[in-house]
Amino acid sequence: MSAGEMASTGASPVALAARRLLSAKTESFTESVIREMTRLALQHDAVNMAQGFPDFPASEEVKEAARQAISDDINQYAITWGAKELRDAIARKFERTQGVRVDPEREITVCCGSTEAMMASMMGIINPGDEVVIFEPHYENYGPDAILSGATPRFVQLRPPDWSFDREELSRAFGPRTKAIIVNTPNNPTGKVFSRQELEFIRDLCVRWNAFAVTDEIYEHIIYDGAQHISMAALEGMRDRTITINGMSKTYSVTGWRVGWAIAPPEASTSIRKVHDFLTVGAAAPLQQAGAIALELPPSYYQKLAQNYLAKRDRMLGILSAAGFRCFKPAGAYYIMTDISNFNFAGDDLSFARYLVEKIGIAVVPGSSFYDDPSQGASQVRFTFCKKESTLAACAEKLAKLRPASASASQLL
Ligand code: GLN
Repeated sequence: MSAGEMASTGASPVALAARRLLSAKTESFTESVIREMTRLALQHDAVNMAQGFPDFPASEEVKEAARQAISDDINQYAITWGAKELRDAIARKFERTQGVRVDPEREITVCCGSTEAMMASMMGIINPGDEVVIFEPHYENYGPDAILSGATPRFVQLRPPDWSFDREELSRAFGPRTKAIIVNTPNNPTGKVFSRQELEFIRDLCVRWNAFAVTDEIYEHIIYDGAQHISMAALEGMRDRTITINGMSKTYSVTGWRVGWAIAPPEASTSIRKVHDFLTVGAAAPLQQAGAIALELPPSYYQKLAQNYLAKRDRMLGILSAAGFRCFKPAGAYYIMTDISNFNFAGDDLSFARYLVEKIGIAVVPGSSFYDDPSQGASQVRFTFCKKESTLAACAEKLAKLRPASASASQLL
């Protein structure tokens, strides 16, 4: 670029040089809005009902196991694809809960959270030109996962109020370029738990088009009203074409530990392990050790977890309904998607979320974060309820300042 051209753009040589170095891929998405809302909550001293992390203590037993592991000097790298004790425990638990037998030596890769497990899996299976089917609304990471791995996303709608999908639409999204479908059950942000019939329909498409199912099952134990979590890998014909993503974060209330994993057939695992090895080398060794203990907790632990979350879900449904939100009752996970139309707010989900955090003191996630086309989420916001009672009470108190069915934003303000 000549000095004249530079002068005409008005950009400094440093800015231009920096710009030339940036990746076009990263320019096509933003930082996580969910995590940004946590920063805004801190900035405005607001109650954080945005990011899905528990604000109550993790189990003493699991914490003690981590402390013990550090004292025992498990402080150096674990095997890159995961400490043997943890992989063995993951294999035992998958067989115990879903009846699926996997080889911990060849089919499990422990990663830095399920976020890395998902990204490493995508990078491990995607080639240029490959398409990935993604239901939406979807957890926001799946968009950047597709972009960074080089996949072209094909979105299929989950339609409220029950978040069902149209079988024709899903069938049309599959084709010769389809490498995988991402299925998140129980689902973030909708709370949908996919039924056996739905999973079988997806299975048949995967088999027909020789595609993988990459299933994010991180909320497997957080289910309500008799809903049943079914792992895709447990369905006949899917054992060898499913990559199951899971982790400790939600089940053991340790989201900051960053211990997750991918369970995949041997060839796919070989590929995932290579990506993981060069991305992060390995997850925290002492925390993997604690994971091996956590995964052996008795069934009563998981029953209690689901019971506690059921009470929180119902409490939060009450709070939100009283405040004027239309709620989509979740059957699983720990979020409530809401419709904000009742507020007649003069603006979209983003301005409503900004108003809530700045003026009401509540951080939520704007609905558009979960859609490819932001306008689809313009009348939705997501609340999480993985919070202790005092946080839920503070949320109720703050929301009392909101007036539903007000005519305009100015009235709200
Ligand atoms: N899953 C959580 C959510 O949706 C956040 C996870 C994260 O920020 N890594 O809020």
